[in-house]
Amino acid sequence: TERTLVLIKPDGVARNLTGAILARVEAKGYTLAELKKVEATRELLEQHYEEHIGKPFYEPLVEFMLSGPVVAAIFEGHRVIEGFRSLAGTTDPTTAAPGTIRGDFGRDWGLKVQQNLVHGSDSTDSAEREIKIWF
Ligand code: ATP
Repeated sequence: TERTLVLIKPDGVARNLTGAILARVEAKGYTLAELKKVEATRELLEQHYEEHIGKPFYEPLVEFMLSGPVVAAIFEGHRVIEGFRSLAGTTDPTTAAPGTIRGDFGRDWGLKVQQNLVHGSDSTDSAEREIKIWF
């Protein structure tokens, strides 16, 4: 069955939203397969965000992801990759639809990086790649 990597980013963990976010994914019907709290390292983030190296938000993104613990989860279920991305909402939390995780809990804080609470893999290939990095 399909799997996806979900990260609760440092803003979500610091704001004590971990349980609320995981509850939405479970309530949608996906199964939690693995869960852990991690202090990311620069090396790990360089692998995870390799497609963004060199972009203007890359360095602020890495600093943000190093600013506190992250919760990493593997969720399973038919079409879970699409399903989680739909639950998460669009990248910019200010305009993400209400009813989504980013739309309900997030906003732009005027920083150089979008603090948008969660990450979800965008394809089966990236899910398998990212799961190897985090687990
Ligand atoms: P999406 O669901 O839109 O694909 P994503 O998390 O996959 O979101 P990416 O484009 O992979 O988004 O970017 C990774 C992360 O980098 C984003 O989640 C966000 O935190 C940050 N980010 C992306 N684009 C910008 C930007 N233009 N300015 C600031 N931060 C950004």
